[in-house]
Amino acid sequence: MTGVNPHGIGQLKNGPIVIDHHRRFTMNIDTQTHLTKLRDLLVYRLHDLESDVRADELARRPSAEHDVTDLKEEAQRHTQDGVLDAEERRDVEELQQVRAALARLDAGTYGDCEDCGEAIALQRLLVEPAALRCASCQSAFERASARIR
Ligand SMILES: [Zn+2]
Repeated sequence: MTGVNPHGIGQLKNGPIVIDHHRRFTMNIDTQTHLTKLRDLLVYRLHDLESDVRADELARRPSAEHDVTDLKEEAQRHTQDGVLDAEERRDVEELQQVRAALARLDAGTYGDCEDCGEAIALQRLLVEPAALRCASCQSAFERASARIR
């Protein structure tokens, strides 16, 4: 015997201390240096959206108390309010996205594409800090959801 460990202790092959580089956070350095700015953008957007949604809720309150006896009239009014409703829905959706992005920031997973796991370009995040996907995955996602509709 020439000093070889008969039990293979010390061999790193498949050992527990091997770091899985694949699971590492892929956010790029540029994004990391802009995290404070991105968080500010998200918090600002969050407050903006929250007050928008609150204003929409307040605007809706009088009609919610309105006695709904004439369904035809009610339906007509809803059609007129259609634009506002769509806008409100977009606000609520964006609010959820912004909250999710802030949660990812706290969890340390911010800036990674939800679909391919690659780092989302900083330029994209600065324009759309709540972006969940990289540009190419987002357009693929939009094409796919457009097909469903
Ligand atoms: Zn992607």
